[in-house]
Amino acid sequence: MIVVMKVGAPEPEIDRLTNEFSAWGLTPEKIVGKHKVVIGLVGDTADMDALQIQEISPWIEQVLRVEQPFKRASREYRHGEPSEVVISTPSGPVAFGQHHPLVVVAGPCSVENEEMIIAVAQRVKAAGAKFLRGGAFKPRTSPYAFQGHGESALALLAAAREVTGLGIITELMDAADLESLAEVADVIQVGARNMQNFSLLKKVGAQEKPILLKRGMSATIEEWLMAAEYIMAAGNPNVILCERGIRTFDRQYTRNTLDLSAVPVLRSLTHLPIMIDPSHGTGWASLVPSMAMASIAAGADSLMIEVHPNPSKALSDGPQSLTPDRFDQLMQELSVVGKAMGRWSAELPTLAAV
Ligand code: PEP
Ligand code: MN
Repeated sequence: MIVVMKVGAPEPEIDRLTNEFSAWGLTPEKIVGKHKVVIGLVGDTADMDALQIQEISPWIEQVLRVEQPFKRASREYRHGEPSEVVISTPSGPVAFGQHHPLVVVAGPCSVENEEMIIAVAQRVKAAGAKFLRGGAFKPRTSPYAFQGHGESALALLAAAREVTGLGIITELMDAADLESLAEVADVIQVGARNMQNFSLLKKVGAQEKPILLKRGMSATIEEWLMAAEYIMAAGNPNVILCERGIRTFDRQYTRNTLDLSAVPVLRSLTHLPIMIDPSHGTGWASLVPSMAMASIAAGADSLMIEVHPNPSKALSDGPQSLTPDRFDQLMQELSVVGKAMGRWSAELPTLAAV
C-alpha cells in the first residue's frame, strides 16, 4: 500500500505515522518526491482498509493499494515519479533515470590485459561513455572457454578507473567475490544467468553499491521485476534494469531477440531506470547501431555497448563487439535520435556535418 501525504504535510506528522505503521507490524518507507511525500507500506496489508487508514491523519491525501506482486519496484510505489540512480564516479556524479540525459556504458566483454583495458577505456571515454564495462568473472556456456582473469582483472579495472575517471561496471557471479568486487565496481552487474539466483540477489541487496540487473534470457517482465524486488526488499533501492535480449526460436541471424517493447512496458510498471544492451541483445556488431538508435527512440535511459580493440581476436563476444572507431562514429550518429528525444547532454559528441 502507499500513503500519499498532502502537500506541506509537517515532518513530525509524517514521523508519527511512520511509527504508527511500524507498530502495526508493517515496514514503512518514506519517499520524498518533488511535490509530495509518499509512505510506502510493505507487509501484510491484505486485510487493511484504505479508508480507515486515511482517517488516522488529516494530512493523508490518499491511500492506494499496489496491485502488482512487485511493490517497491512498482511505479505506484513512488506515486508515478521515476527514480534516479546517482552514482559517484571519479569524474563526478552520473545519474541514470527518465529525467536525465542518456548514459552510455561501453567496454569489452572481458578484461583481457592491462594495455587493452586502458586503451579501450580511453577511447570510449573520449567518445562520450561515462562507464567502462568489462568482465573479470565471466559466465561462459562451456567450462573450457575463457572464464575471465578474476581478481587480477579487478585490479586492471581499478587502474582504468584511475587513468580515465570512468565509473566501472562489472559482473558478480559468486557472493564470495562481493567484497573485492565492490571495492572496484561503482555498479555491480548481476548477469542474465543469475537473475533468479535469489541468494545472490539478497546479498547484493544487503550492501550499498548500485546494481545493474540484467534480464534473464527467458525471464518474463514480471519475473524480472520480482528479481529487482528481492534486491530492494533487502535494502538496496538503487537498481537499474538492463534488457539484453531474450531467447526465441531464431538463432541463425540473431543470438537473442532484443525486446525493445520492454522499454514502454517497464515504463508503465516501474520507476526504475532502464538500460538496453544491443550487443548481447543481437549478438552481431552489424546490428548494434540500429538497435542502439531504436533503444533511444523507445525511451531507454542508458545503453551498454561492447567495444574491443580487435574484435576478431577477442577472448569472448568478439562477433558482437564494435571497434573503437565504429563506437566513436556510433556515438555521433546517436546524437540525432538522442537530441530528438531530449536525452543528449550538451557534453556528448554530435554528428559532424557532411
Ligand atoms: C556480459 O555483460 O558480458 C554478459 C555476460 O551479459 P549477460 O548476462 O546479459 O549475458
Ligand atoms: Mn559479453
